[in-house]
Amino acid sequence: MKALCYHGKEDVRIDNVPDPKIEDPQDIIIKVTSTAICGSDLHIYGDLVPTMKEGDVLGHEFMGEVVELGKEVKKFKKGDRVVVPFTIACGNCDYCDDHKYSLCDNSNPNEELCRENLGHSISGLFGFSHMLGGFSGGQAEYVRVPYADVGPIKVPESLTDEQSLFLSDIFPTGYMGAENADIKEGDTVAIWGCGPVGQFAIQSAWMLGAKRVIAIDMIKERLDMAEKHSKAEVIRTVDADEVYAKLMEMTGGKGPDCCIDAVGAEAHGAEGFNKNLDKAQPNALAQIFKSCKKGGNVSIPGVYAGEVDGLPMGVAMNKSLNLKMGQTHMQHYLDPLLKKVEEGKIDPSFIITHRMKLSEAPEAYKKFRNKEDGCVKVVLTP
Ligand code: NAD
Ligand code: ZN
Repeated sequence: MKALCYHGKEDVRIDNVPDPKIEDPQDIIIKVTSTAICGSDLHIYGDLVPTMKEGDVLGHEFMGEVVELGKEVKKFKKGDRVVVPFTIACGNCDYCDDHKYSLCDNSNPNEELCRENLGHSISGLFGFSHMLGGFSGGQAEYVRVPYADVGPIKVPESLTDEQSLFLSDIFPTGYMGAENADIKEGDTVAIWGCGPVGQFAIQSAWMLGAKRVIAIDMIKERLDMAEKHSKAEVIRTVDADEVYAKLMEMTGGKGPDCCIDAVGAEAHGAEGFNKNLDKAQPNALAQIFKSCKKGGNVSIPGVYAGEVDGLPMGVAMNKSLNLKMGQTHMQHYLDPLLKKVEEGKIDPSFIITHRMKLSEAPEAYKKFRNKEDGCVKVVLTP
């Protein structure tokens, strides 16, 4: 089959690779009908993620049709249309019982490697390094999905791929990002980053009762989307001093009640990571620590890898800030958020700006990384 493979920094290629096979009785094989590129894929593209190997198949946002089933799978039959969460979870350990699916104890076959890097083993993720399981991703014609009865959900015929696909990651991620900010009825919520995760965090903040949502970025098309579609107030700069001054002005000197970092490692200026940004970007998390109200809540859905310099911990400590973060506990959110889509409370397809073929994926990565041509989200079809 054809699949998008990692070949090093800023080098992804469509290769011919072996078709996936059932390896465990709880596996299913999916014929991918739609897949997307995520901001997290850009960390791999920028070579910030350790333990990648040449030839690894990328992609963790995908959906499709069930074409093969392991003997123990009960939830599905051939031909079912499913969307697959990016976290792989066993459904049986203490963490899964507690709905902390991305911390699953059993789904990562490379437990030791993960432990070496993180101190503990966390769940496996599709297409996201060997320390996170070495699972082949979904930017491919076919993909093997382990623990099928725990992860994927059936998609009703009434919904298109474009309406359902983002349940695989960015809608739940934006939602958990907003939930982790402990938004109370009437709160002012500030969100750094108007990429796909930021856009869904804005939508979710409204759902959770925010009174005001302020979105911060520097890219026009993304700010326009945040303002026009998602009804946020916007700050059109990422200059640290200007953002702080503006937020103080907007909140009468108090600062936002809740702050969400939907930027992640990018703000730390990995070279070549975003051609529109200077090498040493102001650090979004540092801005958050400084701007958030005293005793306020900070949620970090943005992905970080390795070590981060220049974080003002003294500010966070002395202001008694509350911090929550993590890979999304996807399985916890799928059913309730699918219900919101079915009820028409949100149509996640608003985020799509580009539709391309899987064979054009290398070009699509460039476009998305460089934010060219108004690109906010690319959907690829095999
Ligand atoms: P993206 O790269 O498309 O968007 C990031 C946005 O941040 C860009 O629009 C960029 O211009 C903006 N930005 C950069 N520096 C900034 C600053 N200092 N202040 C304000 N904005 C700034 O990525 P995305 O797909 O929206 O993902 C956002 C983050 O969420 C990434 O780090 C991604 O890895 C992470 N993510 C986390 C999870 C999870 O499970 N926690 C899941 C998916 C994605
Ligand atoms: Zn993603």
